[in-house]
Amino acid sequence: MFIGHYGPAVFDVLRSGKVKLWHAFLAVQAMDIVFCILALFGLEGAASLVDGNLVFDIPWSHSFVGAIFIAFIAASIYRLSYRGERGSMRGFWIIAALAFSHWVLDLLVHRPDLPFYPGSTFMMGFGLWDYAWASYIVEVLLLGTAIAWWLAKTTGPRWTTVAAWLFVTVLCVLQFFSITKTTLDQQAGTLDLAALPSGVPFAVSGLIFFVGAAALIGWLEGKRAIADRP
Ligand SMILES: [Zn+2]
Repeated sequence: MFIGHYGPAVFDVLRSGKVKLWHAFLAVQAMDIVFCILALFGLEGAASLVDGNLVFDIPWSHSFVGAIFIAFIAASIYRLSYRGERGSMRGFWIIAALAFSHWVLDLLVHRPDLPFYPGSTFMMGFGLWDYAWASYIVEVLLLGTAIAWWLAKTTGPRWTTVAAWLFVTVLCVLQFFSITKTTLDQQAGTLDLAALPSGVPFAVSGLIFFVGAAALIGWLEGKRAIADRP
């Protein structure tokens, strides 16, 4: 999953107000951020076709055990950053849950390439991505519903609403070209594996994207206030 991961990010934004939306934006993509870092060093990321399925070599960042470990690390970074503040332990659990939600949503869409632990041959993935347009709609709805709900529950200058929807639109376009089109090409037999983005440029652009998306939403978040609270 790609843009749909941002869906659960709004979970706590209006509750405790501890976990900011931009914190959550980083947490839900922590596994892919780790993936990009490992891909920088060539440790993960190779795409291959196994029984006609497009799968990725992601044993560390996307195994079940790896996901739990990454969730713990992400939550610990949060806890250490906000140590001593009220609710930081609650924030720890929320960040851990948000980070682990990445694995649950990936389980839904990935073809079987999520191992139980690094090196395990037990691969999981329900393969919703094989239904290119259905999975596109699921991802767009996850992101779109979350942002619509956040905008409805917060108030701010009108340009922040416009900017948020522009952001959603750009993400929907990125989703199409990075996931949907790849699946359609694969099913049409025209996918050139060698032409898929890979290596250092792919890893760097991924990192810039994840950090940039969190920075942008954090900036918009700073301009908006929660509607129901004084
Ligand atoms: Zn992922």
